[in-house]
Amino acid sequence: MNLILLGPPGAGKGTQAKTLQDRYGIAQISTGDMLRAEVKSGSAIGNEARAIMERGDLVPDAIITAMLALRVQKPDCAGGFILDGFPRTVPQAEALDVMLGEMGLALNHVVELQVDDAALVERIAGRFTCASCGTGYHDRFKPTQQAGVCDVCGSHEFIRRADDKAETVAARLDAYHRQTAPLLPYYQAQGKLRHVDGMADMGSVAKQLAAILDAPASIA
Ligand code: AMP
Repeated sequence: MNLILLGPPGAGKGTQAKTLQDRYGIAQISTGDMLRAEVKSGSAIGNEARAIMERGDLVPDAIITAMLALRVQKPDCAGGFILDGFPRTVPQAEALDVMLGEMGLALNHVVELQVDDAALVERIAGRFTCASCGTGYHDRFKPTQQAGVCDVCGSHEFIRRADDKAETVAARLDAYHRQTAPLLPYYQAQGKLRHVDGMADMGSVAKQLAAILDAPASIA
C-alpha cells in the first residue's frame, strides 16, 4: 500500500505516519526529516536547504524529487510507503506520478488531515522531541511526565526545530496554502482524495485513518 498524508505543518502527519508504519509495516518517508539529516551532516544539499527551511519556504522541486526517487527504491519500501511532507507542489505530484508509473506502482490513497490554521501555530510552537529516541512531546498537550526527562528513554536532551518558531510557522502556512493546497483538487480529480478530522485527538485520527485504509476496496 502506498499513500500520501496531506495537510499543513502541525496537522499531525508525522505522528500518524509513525502509527501507520507500525500498523501496516510500510515505510514512513518524511522529506522534512531527510532534509534535516542533510543539514545536520553538512552535505551540499543540506547547505543549500538550510536557509530555505529556516525561512519557511520550500526547497526546489528538482532537489526534493531527486531525493525522493532514490528513497522509494530502498528495500524498506518494498511493502509500500507513507509519504509525509511530499509532494508539496503540483510539479512534485506530477513527478511522483511518473516515478510510480515507471516503477509499476500505484498510489492507493491520499488522505488530507484537516486542521484549522488557528490551532496550528500553538501546536507547532510548543513541540519538541527527545534527542536520543525521537519521541515527540508538546509543552501544553503532551509534556514529559517528569520535567526535563524523556518518558521513554530517560534522556535529558531535547530538540526544538529551528523552523518551529512562531514567525516561521506563518511563512510555512503561507507556503502550504499557496503551493501545496492545489494538490487537493489534483488528487480529487484522480478520485483518490479522502479527508480526516485532524482536530480530533490522536487516537481518533488514527481510527479514522484505519477506517479508510482498511476499507475492502482499498486493500492493495
Ligand atoms: P516538514 O518537516 O515536512 O514540515 O518540512 C520542513 C521543511 O523542509 C519545509 O518547511 C520545507 O522547507 C522543507 N521540505 C520538506 N519537504 C519538502 C518538499 N516536499 N518540498 C519542498 N520543501 C520541503
